[in-house]
Amino acid sequence: MKILKRNGVVCLLVVTLLIANFSLLWADELSMDKAQQPYGDDVHFEVFLGRLFVKASYPQTHYVVLDNAISQWLRDLIARHQMADSGAGTLTVDYDAKLIAEKFIALKLFAEYKDETGETTNGQVAFNMFVEKEKMLCLNDIFSDEQMVELKSKVALASGIEARYFDTNPLDNWNFDETGLIVDLLAEDYSPLLTEDFQFFLPYGALLDMPSLIDRLSQHPSTYAATSDIVNLKSDKKIALTFDDGPGPYTERLLNILQKHGARATFFVVGQRVAGRKETVARMANEYHEVANHTWNHPALTRISNARVESQLKSTSDAIQAVIGSGGAMTRAPYGALNNRVKALAYQLGYYFISWSIDPKDWQTRNANKTYNRVMNHVGDGQIILLHDIHYQSVDAAERLIPKLIEMGYELVTVSELLKDGGIVPQGGQVYRKRP
Ligand SMILES: [Zn+2]
Repeated sequence: MKILKRNGVVCLLVVTLLIANFSLLWADELSMDKAQQPYGDDVHFEVFLGRLFVKASYPQTHYVVLDNAISQWLRDLIARHQMADSGAGTLTVDYDAKLIAEKFIALKLFAEYKDETGETTNGQVAFNMFVEKEKMLCLNDIFSDEQMVELKSKVALASGIEARYFDTNPLDNWNFDETGLIVDLLAEDYSPLLTEDFQFFLPYGALLDMPSLIDRLSQHPSTYAATSDIVNLKSDKKIALTFDDGPGPYTERLLNILQKHGARATFFVVGQRVAGRKETVARMANEYHEVANHTWNHPALTRISNARVESQLKSTSDAIQAVIGSGGAMTRAPYGALNNRVKALAYQLGYYFISWSIDPKDWQTRNANKTYNRVMNHVGDGQIILLHDIHYQSVDAAERLIPKLIEMGYELVTVSELLKDGGIVPQGGQVYRKRP
């Protein structure tokens, strides 16, 4: 069992790198082909991950927010099937994408899993992005509250399912189509009320006026952005906020702040704290933050044996994987303490290190004003900022920093996005402290 689990971690790394490599391969063609291929390029891969055979086709759109949503879904899906039962079988992923009204990418991803006995299960997910603002849309972005009530009653009437069920089981499987909006109700989600999948069609003009929606989203995106937690207007200037030593009692408050501003961050969590705050760690991943390794109980890696370094890293990866489905290779060394021995070992194990370029020493001063000022004095494009979410003063500082940085034109991204933006494919044993 232990060995199987380890294989899972390693294989997941392979897929992550595979996906990262694909993005890089395709990046050069981006500017030239965009017009001809409005929603991007088609990516295929076939790979054995332990006993699971994965055959996937998905689009590489070159829009970070959408590509991240796709790869996150794919990673979670693969991880879930690797952990389930025997971890064997065939997972096939396919998709359907359209550019609607030259303004919206409507994407549907389908998954079919066939286990060893030949029994199949299906799943699907839908994404819609407003291209001009690179904004992922949910129904609340396009309908008013009154219109949502009306939409639910229309779907209820057509499907025979009472409207109240759409509060607990939201209508999030929807896509723009050429002549109207399509809402999918999956039998799996509505069992036993539905015995087979049901599709609802709302023609444009009925509740939704396309030209005025486009106008509204172009003119006043912020008015309609509040309900979506994956807002991310693209910017040339990027910064990665990182929070160490949690999760702790103030982490949920920090997540609320990040959510309010549509910002993303990276959390270097301490392995032994994960089990006690599983919901918080799951929320980080669900809200598109990055969860990374900060060892099991925070020793200076340079002062402990190779065997203990290995168990510090692996037990933390396992703890993270148990909650969010993937353990990852990204690590921050406690106190930044590294030497050639630890780096060589990390190289063998496939882990790499993230250092930082701005350290306001928030843990030392425990003073929100000082933390805020020290960050602002050094802020710049491509920086990685070190903070600690176990101190409320640091969360107070973040509450001021986040809107200020956004106002200054910075996009707040995860460390992986920042590295990818710099063309870096992380390699085991290496240390990265900012985007080049
Ligand atoms: Zn630390």
